[in-house]
Amino acid sequence: MSSRFPETRIAIIGGDAREAYLAESLAGAGFFVQVFGPRPPQRQNIVLCETLRHALEGARAAILPAPGINEKGELYCPFLEKPLLVGEGDLGVLPRGTPVFVGVAGAYLKNLASRLDLKLIELLDLDEVAILNSIPTAEGAVWLAMGKVPVTIHGSRCFVLGFGRTGQTLAALLAAMGAQTTVVARNPAQRARALQMNCRACDFTELPELVGNAEIIFNTVPALVLDEKVLARVSPEALIVDLASSPGGVDFAAAGRLGLTAFLAPGLPGKIAPKTAGQILSRVIGKLLAEYFA
Ligand code: NAP
Repeated sequence: MSSRFPETRIAIIGGDAREAYLAESLAGAGFFVQVFGPRPPQRQNIVLCETLRHALEGARAAILPAPGINEKGELYCPFLEKPLLVGEGDLGVLPRGTPVFVGVAGAYLKNLASRLDLKLIELLDLDEVAILNSIPTAEGAVWLAMGKVPVTIHGSRCFVLGFGRTGQTLAALLAAMGAQTTVVARNPAQRARALQMNCRACDFTELPELVGNAEIIFNTVPALVLDEKVLARVSPEALIVDLASSPGGVDFAAAGRLGLTAFLAPGLPGKIAPKTAGQILSRVIGKLLAEYFA
């Protein structure tokens, strides 16, 4: 195994099982990896840190989990017993200009990085990552739904809101499983593509009148598309799975008032296919780090 970067410390902070695979892979590529949160197997070039500060000290790049840090400043890390806040005092130990990788950054993290002059790299902005990542996301979404509805996916009336990288993979999977799949997209070209894939397609303006027919609704739009007015037309038996990053695209308070079953489903690749998801991340991060430190 090459050891081209023995002096290059990389911090992995937070995340789930996929970051454990990522740590192994980067250590295998010769980086010295300081990990806080996930627990990769003990091996050369990996140090498991007891504190966030320890993991960040001396690091020349930091890797945050794919879902990043939420708007309350909490690090995504299911391994921790209670939420951990990340602030200026933590990331501030990194020198200015240090690359910080994250799947998707919300306003909190963007502001923090800008104040500290860190170079934020949003991996899910890269099609190369987002398209591959959409595969475990779509499989995870279907797996979640299968555990919650009393009918097969085959023959069920599924709505997919948004037809970007995740929506397209999910709609293709549902259609291949025999679901009656309706794609809701604002872009006419995306609707045309959905029709070509044997799905039904409509615009968001038609959603209130059609949504009552849905048995399972998957949202991928990171904006409020299922507001109280639309939710009021949803069948009480329907299931709503919101895949969009927090806060999602559903008015959850209204859904609760209406007695609907709706939930956010973050971090699906890490939950259902951590090895694949770790490999997707490590391929791209490994390449970017190697270029950066070449
Ligand atoms: P994407 O490729 O950018 O697709 C987003 C889709 O939403 C596009 O069809 C876009 O339409 C549409 N959209 C955006 N804003 C809209 C609005 N205001 N009204 C109507 N439609 C709107 O994004 P993606 O990669 O599919 O990811 C979608 C979401 O899933 C993101 O929030 C991402 O962070 C999240 N995600 C979650 C998981 C998980 O495990 N839950 C995994 C991966 C990604 P246009 O093309 O017309 O803009």
